[in-house]
Amino acid sequence: MKHISIVVPVYNEQENVRFFYQKIRKYTEPTGYPFELIFVDDGSTDATAQLLEQLTHQDGRVRAVLLARNFGHQVALTCGMDYAQGDAVITMDGDMQHPPEMLPVLLRKWEEGFDVVQTIRLDTEGVSWFKQSTSRTFYRLINALANTNTHIVEGGSDFRLMDKKVVATFQCFKERARFIRGIISDLGYRQTYVEFVAAPRHAGKSKFSLKKMIMFALDGITSFSKIPLRFAFYLGILLSLMSFLLTLDVVYTKLFTTEAVPGWATITASILLLGGLQLAGIGIIGEYIGRIFEEVKQRPLYWVRADLRNYMEVPASWPDKHENQVKLKQV
Ligand code: UDP
Ligand code: MG
Repeated sequence: MKHISIVVPVYNEQENVRFFYQKIRKYTEPTGYPFELIFVDDGSTDATAQLLEQLTHQDGRVRAVLLARNFGHQVALTCGMDYAQGDAVITMDGDMQHPPEMLPVLLRKWEEGFDVVQTIRLDTEGVSWFKQSTSRTFYRLINALANTNTHIVEGGSDFRLMDKKVVATFQCFKERARFIRGIISDLGYRQTYVEFVAAPRHAGKSKFSLKKMIMFALDGITSFSKIPLRFAFYLGILLSLMSFLLTLDVVYTKLFTTEAVPGWATITASILLLGGLQLAGIGIIGEYIGRIFEEVKQRPLYWVRADLRNYMEVPASWPDKHENQVKLKQV
């Protein structure tokens, strides 16, 4: 019998976890697959961790991995994938924006033989025009710049099913700044897409501020493209060419005409332009060097405060049922 793991990063989702758990049961139990539900608490400061602990006492299929602090959505997802033991791993948000009704659809595609079932968000009810249009611009930009093997589909989300071999491959990717949907689409295997209409959040507010969105977009572009680094090089060539032509013109004017050459405005303007462009070039290089710095430090991606699971209640068919019979294992 194949098992499935559902991985859900949660950050201050106290109004959502119970409701979400019930919906997962409602749509997963009829599929007949034994499942585990792994919540990764990303350093919540509300009652999320306590609620998750209660759930683990109630239901052995629920596991709560509590991170020591907030590490961000992408890292929390990675942590959940590290803990998952199922033959298929499904990652989704805990705020009901990724509809649990879709779970049977994803599983059907997996049964058909696909290794990655990626969902595509058609439109999100109740999401601002601003968020939708910035998201669209971002996908155009990253696809124009990125040197990935495959196209990163617009509206791609972190709601997807992966076969365990895909998860194992993903775990070989050790970079700190991670843009998971780019990595997964780059992995290959047999991938397919299903579309869904994202629902509004069940409760609470989005945890993604504009600043977090910009950082996420920068992570995506800088980890998949070296083209911005070449910007200064191409611009340098272009400007050198222009200044060569200008020199020819100056020499010609000097030798063959009697025109006076005032031109201080031209000089000031070109100094400003060049200064600005050089700073922009240095800024781009800095952005990459900063990332190299983060990577070479080789710090752990995340660390865990507690791994809560009621092993007494774990269904007998689970792979690790007999490995660890302690009631609640503390890390
Ligand atoms: N999340 C997280 N860590 C964070 C921010 C968000 O684990 O630092 C979780 C959050 O609880 C939710 C999911 O990631 O389950 C998606 O976040 P959110 O709904 O805030 O993002 P949006 O849907 O607005 O893009
Ligand atoms: Mg959301």
